[in-house]
Amino acid sequence: MEINWKKEVEARKEALLEDLFTILRIDSVRDDAKATPEMPVGPGPKEALEAFLAIGKRDGFVTKNVGNLAGHIEYGEGDELMGVLGHVDVVPTGTGWDTDPFEPILKDDRIYARGSSDDKGPSMAAYYAIKIIRDLGLPVSKRVRMIIGTDEESGWQCMTHYLQHEEMPDFGFSPDADFPIINGEKGNISLYVRFRGDVAGGKNELISFDAGLRENMVPQDATAIFKSQEAEQIEKDFFEFLENNPVTGTLDVEGDQVTIQLVGKASHGMNPAGGRNAGTYLATFLNNYSFGGDAGEYFRLIAEYIHLEHTAEKLGLSHTDPVMGELTMNAGVFTFAPEVGGTIALNFRYPVGVTAEGLEIKTEAMLSEFGVTIEKSAGKLPHYVPADDPLVKTLLDVYEKHTGLKGKERSIGGGTYGRLMERGVAYGALFPDSIDTMHQANEFLALDDLLRATAIYADAIYELIK
Ligand code: ZN
Ligand code: ZN
Repeated sequence: MEINWKKEVEARKEALLEDLFTILRIDSVRDDAKATPEMPVGPGPKEALEAFLAIGKRDGFVTKNVGNLAGHIEYGEGDELMGVLGHVDVVPTGTGWDTDPFEPILKDDRIYARGSSDDKGPSMAAYYAIKIIRDLGLPVSKRVRMIIGTDEESGWQCMTHYLQHEEMPDFGFSPDADFPIINGEKGNISLYVRFRGDVAGGKNELISFDAGLRENMVPQDATAIFKSQEAEQIEKDFFEFLENNPVTGTLDVEGDQVTIQLVGKASHGMNPAGGRNAGTYLATFLNNYSFGGDAGEYFRLIAEYIHLEHTAEKLGLSHTDPVMGELTMNAGVFTFAPEVGGTIALNFRYPVGVTAEGLEIKTEAMLSEFGVTIEKSAGKLPHYVPADDPLVKTLLDVYEKHTGLKGKERSIGGGTYGRLMERGVAYGALFPDSIDTMHQANEFLALDDLLRATAIYADAIYELIK
């Protein structure tokens, strides 16, 4: 039976938009200040979850709210379960919006609202896909659950809680990234390199060194404050340093105290080469001077082993997997204070063939001369679903059929819900020609992308559960 999925979506366009707008109107930013046991991540995410489940219930589906953190809408019959994992929480709006981020507006065939593309729009597309399969009364041999989380943008406690209490899907996808597919996600681990805080003994005595806000971002700003006996020379050299390096900055001298502020370029931590790490540039500059005690060693380590080392070659950690790509390292947060000591937070995204334990042991051995201690964060293992898995093949086939474009497997350094299932991937809803506005001001979803994605999801889900 040949089904015209596009036509079925077109017939439900108004209803789809109305339901999506209902969810987009809810400010579902996580709010820990208002969290209670009844609302574990605040009132907004819970309200959005309830509203989504209410739509499923209205349409006659079995729905379930699991601890006000996650929930599902289920369809079909059979032992096997397919999961479609989306989320209704959103990141804070930030500044720079031309319209109210929680009053969706359709303008120039684009839906503007916080969450339109991440991830309320794609989640609603996936829901309507399931609804179309049900409306058409197509025979299915498996069950499918639209599983909705409320804490994707922070700690994932929604899905953790859900999977502790509910059945683990046998396979599935998350509509929270890009087409054609993301079937590989690198592992993610941070190592904290810690120094003691001795600063005595040099011509320069460090008062503080700080750079970076988060482990998964390249530091845009860095600041060093120190007492100096060679301020004049440092000031002279600093302007030459600025001329020869892709950073900007200021240097202030007050008595014998020098303050340097450096500005680089932020980037996502999974793409350190896309940024300019203000922290490593500043430490490398300061490494040219005599800093006493641990502070001097702190700068030397950064200059010799971290600066511009996006693939951690000098630490002996570089590794490239032919399918998942290379290991990357981002030095995301730097702090040094005489009383407390120093820390460098190194965030790694690594392919299969590398282990977190191996990274820790090798780093420890390589840096032993510095007298540092190394501590490892909790992490995520690499996740990969082979290209010949029927799930990947089916999803790529459907994508090719609908777009006329070639579907290829792809790995990324970020993480989506897809990794929660052994046979789980991310699938849409951004197309290769879409403009990615996720997490930005004036976030939008192109109406055409919403409709195209809905048709693809309907076709793909049906192929996988029929
Ligand atoms: Zn998302
Ligand atoms: Zn997001």
